[in-house]
Amino acid sequence: METYDVLVIGAGPGGMTAALYAARANLKVGMIDRGIYGGQMNNTDDIENYPGFTSIKGPDLSEKMYQSTVKAGVNFICGDVQEVTVDSNQWKHIKTDSEELAAKSVIIATGSTNKKLGVPGEEEFSGKGVSYCAVCDGAFFKGKQVTVIGGGDSAISEGLYLANVTNKVNVVHHRDTLRAQQVLQDRAFENPKMNFTWNTTVEKIIGDENHVTGIEVVDTKTNEKKVINTDGIFIYIGNLPNSQLFKRLNITDSAGWILTNDDMETNIPGVFAIGDVRKKRLRQITTAVGDGGIAGQNAYEYVENFN
Ligand code: NAP
Repeated sequence: METYDVLVIGAGPGGMTAALYAARANLKVGMIDRGIYGGQMNNTDDIENYPGFTSIKGPDLSEKMYQSTVKAGVNFICGDVQEVTVDSNQWKHIKTDSEELAAKSVIIATGSTNKKLGVPGEEEFSGKGVSYCAVCDGAFFKGKQVTVIGGGDSAISEGLYLANVTNKVNVVHHRDTLRAQQVLQDRAFENPKMNFTWNTTVEKIIGDENHVTGIEVVDTKTNEKKVINTDGIFIYIGNLPNSQLFKRLNITDSAGWILTNDDMETNIPGVFAIGDVRKKRLRQITTAVGDGGIAGQNAYEYVENFN
């Protein structure tokens, strides 16, 4: 079994930063991910709020961060983590789908996953007009009309991306105000291709044999029901923590977000959590990176004192 000083689970911006800090402290560091490094950055078009870049494509920022970890000597391990346990000597054991590893310290950076609407038709038409990733699927809707569900940063920034690719974007939101940053709201309201349908919830996604054709909605003020025709639906209604794996460690709150202190420590010595999977208010690349630096440095101090 290969052993490490630090194993980072998840190679998004938080995980890559934690790995970078720990490796630059001369520790043996592994960073495990079941997919390509970068996490949700890979599904993001323009990033304009990461200092140093007035605008950068998500996959490009991801590549730059990854190259930093390579230069620092981080070992990228491709694997799907199945189990994490801690033994009586405080060694952390990680079982992936292909190997068993052990480390003195573990940094959890598994991020979050898109929340589902949970309405009839959503699963049935997933990949047939229902999408959670504008950057991945937007090009299929060139010249067509699409609907975005949600009113947060993701809904509006990805809606703006879709407005560049499609003919019309209708944002359907269950309230009459958005929670997205003001700068995004201003851009969306000024964009002639963007429309807003307020106080409206989706009851069903409908389609023919092959593809989505519309959504059945209800106006929450008048209870009026109607069908909105659309070629595609992009759902951006928030995220759920990827923390199922850690349930048995007892480090999450009742909703599944991992609880840490300001040093990114969970209640298990040597187990840190960072980024979107952690309970916190602002989930951004910048805050994930900040968490990662803190955890990488604190993992170093933990490993130095490990007997
Ligand atoms: P979010 O901020 O949680 O917004 C989710 C939106 O969906 C809210 O408008 C919410 O309505 C709505 N919603 C929630 N459940 C719903 C349901 N069942 N049916 C209909 N609508 C529902 O999620 P997000 O936009 O994915 O962003 C996640 C995090 O990433 C945030 O911290 C965000 O700031 C960050 N982010 C940042 C950027 C950026 O800085 N450029 C870009 C993307 C994401 P209510 O408003 O009524 O709650």
